[in-house]
Amino acid sequence: MGKVLVIGAGGVATVACHKIAQNSDVFTEIMIASRTKAKCDKIVEAIGNPNIKTAQVDADSVEELVKLFNDFKPELVVNLALPYQDLTIMEACLQCGVNYLDTANYEPKDEAHFEYSWQWAYKKRFEDAGLTAILGCGFDPGVSGVYTAYAAKHHFDEITHLDIVDCNAGNHHKAFATNFNPEINIREITQKGLYYKDGEWLETDPLSVHQPITYPNIGPRESYLMHHEELESLVKNYPTIKQARFWMTFGQQYLTYLDVIQNIGMSRIDEMEYEAPLADGSGKNVKVKIVPLQFLKAVLPNPQDLGENYEGETSIGCRIRGIKDGKERTYYVYNNCSHQEAYKETGMQGVSYTTGVPAMIGAMMFFKGLWKRPGVWNVEEFDPDPFMEQLNKQGLPWHEVFDGDLEL
Ligand code: NDP
Repeated sequence: MGKVLVIGAGGVATVACHKIAQNSDVFTEIMIASRTKAKCDKIVEAIGNPNIKTAQVDADSVEELVKLFNDFKPELVVNLALPYQDLTIMEACLQCGVNYLDTANYEPKDEAHFEYSWQWAYKKRFEDAGLTAILGCGFDPGVSGVYTAYAAKHHFDEITHLDIVDCNAGNHHKAFATNFNPEINIREITQKGLYYKDGEWLETDPLSVHQPITYPNIGPRESYLMHHEELESLVKNYPTIKQARFWMTFGQQYLTYLDVIQNIGMSRIDEMEYEAPLADGSGKNVKVKIVPLQFLKAVLPNPQDLGENYEGETSIGCRIRGIKDGKERTYYVYNNCSHQEAYKETGMQGVSYTTGVPAMIGAMMFFKGLWKRPGVWNVEEFDPDPFMEQLNKQGLPWHEVFDGDLEL
């Protein structure tokens, strides 16, 4: 019943493709396309299903995408490349009459800045074309929005306070590595913090606001207030929210390395000239342009190679305060995911797993007709119940705590 095209062949795509292949009753025809076809072929080999097709595509080029979409004719494109490619892929979807899903909102390459306005601007065009676009369907954004929608539907008359808490208590035994694409990750973390309070967005210096938060089965971990994209859609879709914040844990060693990276200029995203030796062995030099952060990505460990020795768990959830039947109540809903279990099932670590599984479930919701509505939508705008049910079945079970101490 479902013909799906996955774009990207990184950690998240590897997990999503494993899960897509496991649900063959829903996904009947599958293609993986990315910049490097060999990486798509490697995923197919790991899954062991030769019926999955692969292709090479430069997703920065609408023309190449249109050609690919017209050849394969997917019903849904699952975009698991980088946030830079969101708009070109959405554009190609409109040109070819294909539905769309992604896990991260658009970011221009030359500006470390993310917001939904660029993608929300496509709403009317998707509506007019009768096509569905589902935005931000990983874990956070993604499950964090579904958790909030589930809380609003079943446990609150009014949500007033929302704290999304994201802990990675895993140890990959590397001095410094990022858990997903290093370029995107470092751009995100080094930005100013931002949170919502009483109708206003308040800015904080990068990682300057922090406190210990206790995570189930893990214990207290220092957690840092950051800007995160789902806050933007959640305060819009739940206007009773007075305060919305996002917290993520970092170890001291990680922060020390990050500080050094910034201080020596390696997190810069502007182009600079570099004199490099010519590859012909002539001993002559040539001036080339490099972006320091992209160069750093090339020398850092590949997040996809962290899985084998990764121990420990992630714990991501929503801590919510609000009103039910005239009384204040608190609610905490979360998932803990073991890096080792994720690795055993898919060959990838927990951060790729917690993103790739929800991307597959979102695609499943679309093909089952449960999340199918012309326009451009964030996940919390759909019915959370069937998605929550699948989380339990597909490897990301959730737990609830009612009226506990939220610590926040
Ligand atoms: P990776 O860097 O591992 O993978 C990205 C893939 O996209 C690579 O295979 C890369 O190709 C491919 N790609 C990059 N540029 C192009 C292009 N122009 N054309 C075609 N393919 C391209 O990233 P991750 O798998 O870690 O992350 C994937 C996405 O998931 C990112 O957008 C990230 O922000 C998002 N994410 C979302 C989370 C959430 O919870 N919502 C959490 C974690 C990640 P090549 O292999 O040749 O470089």
